[in-house]
Amino acid sequence: MISEKMKPLVNNNSAIRAMFEEGNQLKAIYGADKVYDFSLGNPNVPAPAEVKQAIIDILNEEESTMVHGYMSNAGFEDVRETIAQSLNRRFQTNFSAHNLIMTVGAASGLNVALKTILNPGEEVITFAPYFVEYGAYVSNYDGKLVVISPNTETFQPNLTEFETKITAKTRAVIINTPHNPTGVIYSEETLRKLAAILEKKQKEFGSVIFLISDEPYRELAYDGAVVPYVTKYYKNTIVGYSYSKSLSLPGERIGYLIIPDELEDSENVINAAAIATRVSGAVNAPSLMQRVIMRCVDAQTDVSYYERNRNALYQGMTDAGFTCIKPQGAFYLFVKSPVENEKEFCEAAKKYNILMVPGSSFACPGYVRLAYCVSYETIINSLPYFKKLGADYGL
Ligand code: PLP
Repeated sequence: MISEKMKPLVNNNSAIRAMFEEGNQLKAIYGADKVYDFSLGNPNVPAPAEVKQAIIDILNEEESTMVHGYMSNAGFEDVRETIAQSLNRRFQTNFSAHNLIMTVGAASGLNVALKTILNPGEEVITFAPYFVEYGAYVSNYDGKLVVISPNTETFQPNLTEFETKITAKTRAVIINTPHNPTGVIYSEETLRKLAAILEKKQKEFGSVIFLISDEPYRELAYDGAVVPYVTKYYKNTIVGYSYSKSLSLPGERIGYLIIPDELEDSENVINAAAIATRVSGAVNAPSLMQRVIMRCVDAQTDVSYYERNRNALYQGMTDAGFTCIKPQGAFYLFVKSPVENEKEFCEAAKKYNILMVPGSSFACPGYVRLAYCVSYETIINSLPYFKKLGADYGL
């Protein structure tokens, strides 16, 4: 009785659930500390202490009907203004409350953005490897996802192919930086080139092409790496942000969209995005969490924890003979499978209780993703097994 659109999603979900259940089974048999589960992007650093304190203070100090009530679909104005000012301080931007729509995490933000701008049959381009949910989000609004093949040298986007795939039907391009699953940060040079291509194609087709920058990992950057602020390079940019990773609040579902004034027809787009939030069923972003963000706007997770994990895992994996590029941000390592069929490699790793996600889940077969948002001990204890696994493949 389920709809045609849901059927492929249900089948795909069974595969993800099977992997999750397999992990739980291994943990029940061998003990959680003997299973090296690198499959999930769930932050393991606790939310900053300010978050807990803010929740307590809000409940004690602010009025219940306001804290838990409905508000404008775009979110509380004082919260949006506070975030805008924080962004302006940190990235020399020029936003105000008006440019923000509070969202139910990045996932909902992307859905709101696509619902706002996409007509049935229009195309949305993204670059492999990519976060697989983009396909479902685009299909929610009857768009077509067009995937650009990966540039496996650097994992910066393949702009040569990109230019050839833009058509009169291209309505949006989704990028993600810092990047899941490779940890790459799109460089200034990449963004300038990408913007130049989009400007040229908008002129050629007399169309507007929106660039949607999905940035839940913006704060997770290592070695002092700078994550360029995308609105500065291309005026038709919509930014999707989330506190899921930066404040370790993935279950709380809080984030925002930025729709800058310089974006084409911005007034109408902003207005439509607020309405899209309502009719998508979210109505508005969670009110208590909005109040929390107001008080914790400059709070930070312990990035050094992930950086230490990155260093240990990258070093360990390269010492074991694996090929991977050193992540600049996020908390994922994308490793070349020693055999072409990376699913076979993931299966083989299970004999050492190692769980990884095949690259084909990100439209990039031949690679595997390791999420290093796990304890440091898990990484250190897993390394001898990765060495054995590598040796099994002659590394
Ligand atoms: N975009 C990317 C690239 C992600 O990796 C994730 C989550 O892992 C999301 C979006 C969804 O984030 P949220 O939990 O804030 O909806």
